[in-house]
Amino acid sequence: MLISLKGQVALVTGASSGLGAGAARGLAACGAAVVVNYHSQPEPAQNLVDEIRAAGGQAIAVGADVSKEDEVDKLLAATLKAFGRLDILIANSGLQKDAPITELSLEDWNTVINVNLTGQFLCARAALRQFAKQEIRPDISRALGKIIHMSSVHQVIPWAGHVNYAASKGGVDLLMRSIAQEVGEQRIRVNSIAPGAIRTAINTKATSGDAEKDLLKLIPYGRVGEAQDVANAVVWLASDASDYVHGATLFIDGGMSLYPEFRNNG
Ligand code: NAD
Repeated sequence: MLISLKGQVALVTGASSGLGAGAARGLAACGAAVVVNYHSQPEPAQNLVDEIRAAGGQAIAVGADVSKEDEVDKLLAATLKAFGRLDILIANSGLQKDAPITELSLEDWNTVINVNLTGQFLCARAALRQFAKQEIRPDISRALGKIIHMSSVHQVIPWAGHVNYAASKGGVDLLMRSIAQEVGEQRIRVNSIAPGAIRTAINTKATSGDAEKDLLKLIPYGRVGEAQDVANAVVWLASDASDYVHGATLFIDGGMSLYPEFRNNG
């Protein structure tokens, strides 16, 4: 099936790098106009916009901190000013501040929760408020709007030394499913993607050299993921090809969440 997102507007947070950049590229390649949100790096965001435009697509770059209510409001305003509507939100921004629990500062706890969980709440709420002002356009999609939360395998796999991150992603799971339960009858689809180990800036150490060999022991499919693996899933979940998928988490992890330690009888 060929996927077309023509006529639709997608907002991707944290799109100046990694999975967000991959998602923005994938959505633009299917015809969506894309808002490339960045936090602190305007240059890569603008480069991505230039790349999308050079390929014949539509895109703008907009700076905003997703953990700040007023900045998220401005992000939505910029989206509407440029493209007049919003159809797809990819709530992707996220970060890690790792430390053993006894050394984890309140500041680092708060930073991770504020970006990874509160940021997803603020962006989803802003998108839902906008969807409510729009009508379903059957010519572009069967849904009034689509939200995809970027979660992690750590919404189910506990992660020692990363309790703030794991707690934030566990929170994203119930945030997503509760929103999905609340807004489904408005024909708004809400889902999550839970990546495993994907080669991006967030995990450069874990995906290179000897560390990669250890990491591969945790991946039954035997390879580290690439941003394209996640982008493919984003595009599908954003399209009508997944129109009956709602409140689901799609694990893109080469089987990392299959408890591979048990593959040789535990
Ligand atoms: P990344 O570091 O390349 O991307 C994270 C993005 O979030 C960056 O562009 C960063 O600028 C942005 N960001 C950080 N704070 C922000 C803020 N306050 N406001 C707006 N944007 C902000 O890493 P990535 O791997 O592409 O991560 C993207 C998402 O995927 C994250 O939510 C991460 O938790 C999730 N994830 C990644 C992996 C992986 O293996 N790469 C695995 C599971 C989940």
